[in-house]
Amino acid sequence: MPPFPKPDWSQTLTELAEDREQYYRAVSPPIVQSSNFAFPTVDSLRQAFADEMGGYLYSRGLNPTVDILRKKLAAMDGAEDALVFNSGAAAIFAGVLANVKAGDHIVSVQAPYTWVQRMFDVILPRFGVTTTYIPGKTIQEWEAAMQPNTTFIYLESPNSWDYSLQPLAAVAALAKRRGIVTLIDNSYCTPFYQRPIELGIDLVMQTATKYISGHSDTLGGVLTGSAARMRKIFDSEYLNIGSGIQPFNAWLMIRGLRTLPARLERIERSTKQVVEFLKQDPRVETLLFPFDESFPQYALAQQQMRGACGLFTLVLKKRAMADIVRFCESLKHFLMAVSWGGHESLVIPKCAGIEPADYDPESPLHRYVRIYIGLEEPDYLIADLDQALGRL
Ligand SMILES: *Cc1c(COP(=O)(O)O)cnc(C)c1O
Repeated sequence: MPPFPKPDWSQTLTELAEDREQYYRAVSPPIVQSSNFAFPTVDSLRQAFADEMGGYLYSRGLNPTVDILRKKLAAMDGAEDALVFNSGAAAIFAGVLANVKAGDHIVSVQAPYTWVQRMFDVILPRFGVTTTYIPGKTIQEWEAAMQPNTTFIYLESPNSWDYSLQPLAAVAALAKRRGIVTLIDNSYCTPFYQRPIELGIDLVMQTATKYISGHSDTLGGVLTGSAARMRKIFDSEYLNIGSGIQPFNAWLMIRGLRTLPARLERIERSTKQVVEFLKQDPRVETLLFPFDESFPQYALAQQQMRGACGLFTLVLKKRAMADIVRFCESLKHFLMAVSWGGHESLVIPKCAGIEPADYDPESPLHRYVRIYIGLEEPDYLIADLDQALGRL
């Protein structure tokens, strides 16, 4: 039994927040490319100053095009409200900064997204905030890592390289008992496959750069949660850092959302086919994919996720870095690049981030090759993987 039914976003994606009478009944909403909004009276301007979240004053705060996107994303997450940032990294930074102060302690899952780790290791210590990293696969580990000054828990489930999971409902319950704020990076799943708010998580972040944009042409980041939490972030970090998404980029995201379920379903089917092919291939040592029965935390994945798609990681039998390089460079139809979630299939080897002298052929981690399956025909991709494996 999946933990929740397939979301029906028909109304959300075509009607919600689209007030077409306001703009000539245009099917596609206008891009309100204005930094500024004018007021007829001093009194109305005074009201706008008093409650900037109550209307349109200046586009560093709210903007009508961004608002359409905001409302749809909140509904998709089952959250009261959402804020949309100019990147996923900005959304995470605001969500963390709004909830820690000097002397606080964070417990984070190990190996979070690169720039999150940088924030915890380099930026926050300057302000007296410390972080403990744990694998976080069991609730006992989270309980053991708590300190009297722990105020924040950072989750990323699944991780986007090894797909490690954390038991979300149990961690959320532990945090609630102790008055600790929880934030999850839900970028791998999107709310199509995982709904952290329903599991009790306070703040849900996803990069919009990946599946929501879907076309590798713009950056964005989403933070959802209760209206009170979103207002708190809006009133300080959002307005102060000034990293809200711009109207044109928001419009691209609204366009991306229209086809999000269709793209995810297509990628889910293709990923299954490609995974089935690679799993039985004798040149592949292991394949990590959270919705494959061989995945070490498959049972937990089934409990808290409805599905998975797109990203998986290979470990080839050949161990030399030269073999990994040959495999990646032999692929003709997978672009070698960071990121994922677009129309195009991608490949990235972990060893690209390791100095050759530090490469350890005995470390499966160093041998990771991450694949992203895009919208091409699966047979086209399988043939390409097959010929690149043949070069080993
Ligand atoms: C890309 C990514 C981010 C950051 O998003 P940006 O939009 O690139 O800032 C955060 N978490 C994960 C898991 C990502 O893949």
